[in-house]
Amino acid sequence: THFGFKQVDKNQKVNMVKDVFQSVAAKYDIMNDLMSLGIHRLWKRYTIDCSGVRAGHKVLDLAGGTGDLTAKFSRIVGESGQVILADINDAMLKVGRDKLRDKGIVGNVEYVQANAEELPFPDNTFDIITIAFGLRNVTDKDKALASMYRVLKPGGRLLVLEFSKPSNEILNKVYDTYSFHLLPKIGQLVANDADSYQYLAESIRMHPEQEVLKGMMENVGFEQTTYHNLTGGIVALHRGFKF
Ligand code: SAM
Repeated sequence: THFGFKQVDKNQKVNMVKDVFQSVAAKYDIMNDLMSLGIHRLWKRYTIDCSGVRAGHKVLDLAGGTGDLTAKFSRIVGESGQVILADINDAMLKVGRDKLRDKGIVGNVEYVQANAEELPFPDNTFDIITIAFGLRNVTDKDKALASMYRVLKPGGRLLVLEFSKPSNEILNKVYDTYSFHLLPKIGQLVANDADSYQYLAESIRMHPEQEVLKGMMENVGFEQTTYHNLTGGIVALHRGFKF
């Protein structure tokens, strides 16, 4: 089976995304390490380095899932700061909350079940918003970006870490083969769930490439937008400011 997103309507997409993450939540962390050979840790480290986070900051880790970024932010913002891990999926939120509590990360972290398209926060709330490997799952990306812009403080910045388009044709082919042939097999072996990883491959291929996403950010108001390719453009980190 495959999901063939082009043929499905919005509600169906919302439900599929829900099923996928409900289904992968328990195995999410180990699959991340396996599929990226651990490299996702470097991509996340780089995101923190580009975030300008300081003690006292208020950070939104949107589509935060199992909380890798939240854990790093929590240590930096300290007692005077706050990190909100928001995710649409209660299973992912629960795995994240349990993991962070086990690591002793408590006190300055809050967990909120929310849809990126309609963020339940007042205007001008956050110094930093990150959305890592989350935007491609969102149905209405323009609406979500506008919602992020609204809740960001003037002077604040958004970081979007997401799969993107490899800059080199050969890498593109190798990567396509990997994601459409190997990835669902790994998903089957490790998580007994080939479909979810087939979805992952399809959602990566359909996600707007570097320049397009940059334009989408500018359209909702972000300024000084830039992106940086990581691992040959397999992943890109986009950044934009609200002034
Ligand atoms: N940020 C984490 C990381 O980098 O490891 C988790 C990424 S995971 C691939 C994608 C997450 O996006 C899932 O936890 C999923 O529930 C969440 N998500 C999907 N659609 C969403 C939406 N509309 N609003 C908020 N979160 C959403």
